[in-house]
Amino acid sequence: MEWRVAAIISLWLIAGAYSFPSVSDSFENDLESQARLFLAEYDRQSSEKCFNAANANWNYATDIRDETEKIKLQKSLENSKFQKEAWKNITIQFKTRENFQDPVLVRTFKKIAIIGTSASALPEERLKEFKQLQNTMSKIYSTAKTCAYEDVTECNLSLDPDLTKIMKESRDEQQLRHAWKEWHDKVGVPIRQYYKPYVDFSNEIAKTNNFSDAGAFWLREYESETFKEEIEQLWQTLKPFYQQMHAYVRAKLRDTYGDQFTEDGLIPAHLLGNMWAQSWENIYSLVVPFPEKTSIDVTEQMKQQGYTPLKMFQVSDEFFTSLGLIPMPPEFWKESLLEKPNDREVVCHASAWDFCNRKDFRIKQCTVVTTEDLITVHHEMGHVQYYLQYKDQPLIFRRGANPGFHEAVGDTLALSVITPKHLKEIGLLDDSTPIDDYETSINFLLSMALEKIAFLPFGYLIDKYRWDIFDGTVEPSNYNAHWWKLRREYQGIKPPVERSEENFDAGAKYHVPADVEYLRYFVSKVIQFQFHRSLCLEAGQYDPEDPRKPLHNCDIYRSKAAGSKLAAGLAMGSSRPWPEAMKVMTGQDKMDASAIREYFKPLEDWLILQNAKLAQPPGWQKSTNDLESEAHSYLVELDQLSSQKCYESSVAEWAYATDINDENEKVKLELSLDSAKFSKEISQNVTATFPLWREFKDPDLVRKLKKITILGAARLPDDQFKKYAQLETDMTKHYSTTTICSFKYKETCNLSLEPELTKIMRESRNEEELRHVWTEWHDKSGGPIKQTYKKFVEISNQAAKLNDFNDTGALWLNSYESETFKDDVEELWQTLKPLYQQIHAYVRAKLRNVYGDQFSDDGLIPAHLLDIVVNAEELCLASFLKFEFK
Ligand SMILES: [Zn+2]
Repeated sequence: MEWRVAAIISLWLIAGAYSFPSVSDSFENDLESQARLFLAEYDRQSSEKCFNAANANWNYATDIRDETEKIKLQKSLENSKFQKEAWKNITIQFKTRENFQDPVLVRTFKKIAIIGTSASALPEERLKEFKQLQNTMSKIYSTAKTCAYEDVTECNLSLDPDLTKIMKESRDEQQLRHAWKEWHDKVGVPIRQYYKPYVDFSNEIAKTNNFSDAGAFWLREYESETFKEEIEQLWQTLKPFYQQMHAYVRAKLRDTYGDQFTEDGLIPAHLLGNMWAQSWENIYSLVVPFPEKTSIDVTEQMKQQGYTPLKMFQVSDEFFTSLGLIPMPPEFWKESLLEKPNDREVVCHASAWDFCNRKDFRIKQCTVVTTEDLITVHHEMGHVQYYLQYKDQPLIFRRGANPGFHEAVGDTLALSVITPKHLKEIGLLDDSTPIDDYETSINFLLSMALEKIAFLPFGYLIDKYRWDIFDGTVEPSNYNAHWWKLRREYQGIKPPVERSEENFDAGAKYHVPADVEYLRYFVSKVIQFQFHRSLCLEAGQYDPEDPRKPLHNCDIYRSKAAGSKLAAGLAMGSSRPWPEAMKVMTGQDKMDASAIREYFKPLEDWLILQNAKLAQPPGWQKSTNDLESEAHSYLVELDQLSSQKCYESSVAEWAYATDINDENEKVKLELSLDSAKFSKEISQNVTATFPLWREFKDPDLVRKLKKITILGAARLPDDQFKKYAQLETDMTKHYSTTTICSFKYKETCNLSLEPELTKIMRESRNEEELRHVWTEWHDKSGGPIKQTYKKFVEISNQAAKLNDFNDTGALWLNSYESETFKDDVEELWQTLKPLYQQIHAYVRAKLRNVYGDQFSDDGLIPAHLLDIVVNAEELCLASFLKFEFK
């Protein structure tokens, strides 16, 4: 269902000599007139080349033989030469073309430039190599054969029709799984090795056209700097509806394939009736809301009434002309291939062709008499109608306003054709069939949504995936992981079997190996509803205020007003940026998801109710990988924030430590409370956002998160923490402000630990003085805080327990990150003990010489003789980043 003009333009061939008028001196002052002359001739010659190329291409596609293939390929290389030559002429003759006054000229040259330079971007050898590469990938795809589920030695199943039929009709989970795996393995794996070189080639071509990468090169046709963001925004608007449908379908599929579903909320990719899970209409019978009510499938009616492929095209043509649009010309009916011939091999993939001569337009489709193909017929006829509408534009503007427009025309009309109302009108639904009741509408809307809404995330992610590859966001070593990341994130599906980086599952979708841009299909799905809404309003068939005229039941049949509005936009081709064409057709100048939401509104309401009834929360879990990368970003952000907090509380603590007063104490306490709250919030955030962080693969990440979730005292309830901080401050303050009286001058009572007492302990050899100082200090500093300390131990243990530790000792030991740390330390001590004891014995002997009467037979040294008042106090109390050394 592609349209062919892009391929044809790039397949321009050169049939012998050609010449362009050159700029003569006498006309030098009127370069723009010269440019017009030049372009007229360019148009004439390139139309001719285009016609010949299209012809060779058609001959191959409708009769696959070595001979026709050879001619087609030969023309393709000749074409490169023609384009190269034309572009060389332009660059020499119209150096100032970008400064021309006439905007049409500027636009024309801009568009020619892209064809011209891409044809010549690579040296001939490299170009050949690139074409070979593309050919190899396409060939792997189109010739892949898989083995049957029932008999694995029977290995001649192709995608079309065998696997497609299995995916569509089989309800045997094992068989579906087998077909899915066979196709993805037999196609994706062999293609994988060619993809990186293909990416490099594509980027090289894009760069020679002054685009940053191939993704940007594709996006050029949408003529918007912010197109990626616009698309993402559209998707975000549509996502809630998609998720409702996803939840409903998941619940229904669970009834059929219960054991295939797990708690993650994802749907296994092989159960949706389609190899790529890109549209779900084939599982309609499994999810139909009201099975006893009518469903719109007119295949049987068509067969009964003797419909042929030709008749289907005539019905479609009649619909177009009923709107006052252009009828298919005689050449169309004479030359098109509407049925699969029996006498030769043809490319069956439906396509619409423009032969560039303003009268030859054809469709090639192996049409089968089914409802589905009736829609496809309208889709292809839409392409031809577009060709007909813009046929009088210069060749370079004979394209869609953007690629999505071209895909949307036929679909827009089909939205009318497929309504039960219209099918009745053309006699394909029995007059007696009730169609206006609520249940039938819901059935109808769900069948539409299974095709149109299910497609949206897929239509988006195919190119999002490739943008990420082209711009280097994704490395080749992550090709498959990234594919499944997007499939999970956007579609909510997962692979039915284990995948690895051996696989290349994106390669199992045609457009990836075939190098075809895909975003057009997403754009088309959105804007066709904008077109439909506008045409329905124009036709008077839709009234937002009138429940009897809902958008989904509108049929624009026979409305000349609607037809002329559509035609006005189509006739512009790509001569103007697409928002202008959009404005002509809809009054809006941008893409907008409100029309599609309006169309499906009754279904969306029904789904919300239904899912609530079934207790089906929409949405699905993120993968560990996605969560890990989110956690990484979260930590980077957090680091900045906590550095700031840390700075603030360090400043406050410094102020207090260097000037102990009430005000500083207050600020310090406030900030410590604040920072405790902050830590608590972060820790709660982490456990809520990443409940499974302990299972993350990156050990560094796990380590960081572990440290964040261990809060120490900060985990206490606010009032308890306040008490804790106050106790701690009280004790520290008491310690730092304790003074004692002098031994020599009893009335002097302001001796502090530092420097006075330390000096005495260090220098005095007066045993009595030493004893006095030691006793006084211990009694006055230690004694009074005994009760406080008891409370402190209680509350501190309480905090430890809240952090899942037995007590504060265990919490402290946690920072040594060893289960055996206590034992290790004890062992160290045992090793050092003999040395210590030797020193102890020696010092004891020496001290006995000075303070003989202080020693008894127990071998102990009295503590006040050792020049140390107290031992090291490790005061790492409030902040996890502050260390105080003795
Ligand atoms: Zn198409």
